[in-house]
Amino acid sequence: MYHGETVFSKIIDGTIPSRKVYEDDHVLAFHDIEPKADVHVLIIPKKKYVSFNDFTQEASDTEISSFYRTIQKIAEDLGIADSGYRLITNHGANAGQEVFHFHVHMIVRRHKD
Ligand code: 5GP
Repeated sequence: MYHGETVFSKIIDGTIPSRKVYEDDHVLAFHDIEPKADVHVLIIPKKKYVSFNDFTQEASDTEISSFYRTIQKIAEDLGIADSGYRLITNHGANAGQEVFHFHVHMIVRRHKD
């Protein structure tokens, strides 16, 4: 059960500013406020899902497939689709999930040698 507002629902409604990299009717992507890598983008469905469990159990097949297809499109837009990136979802307390609005981290740590 989604509890009221989270920082990400406030980013969706514009109450909290963000550096957006992609937006459509269903998905928003923006730079993480404390990037842990050269590229650190957060990708979220605009609809309120608390977690990976909630998203996979409650969203329709169309929502789920189009969400993941949009992630791939964002990688293309960022020019990292071929060079590579990591996708991470922290699910629940034992994974250290801090924001209880389902999200995927897109991360690139470039080699500097
Ligand atoms: P989690 O640990 O829940 O998977 O990750 C939450 C992420 O959200 C963290 O990497 C954190 O830096 C990021 N974050 C938290 N608050 C904000 C915010 O207000 N704006 C942005 N852009 N990122 C945030």
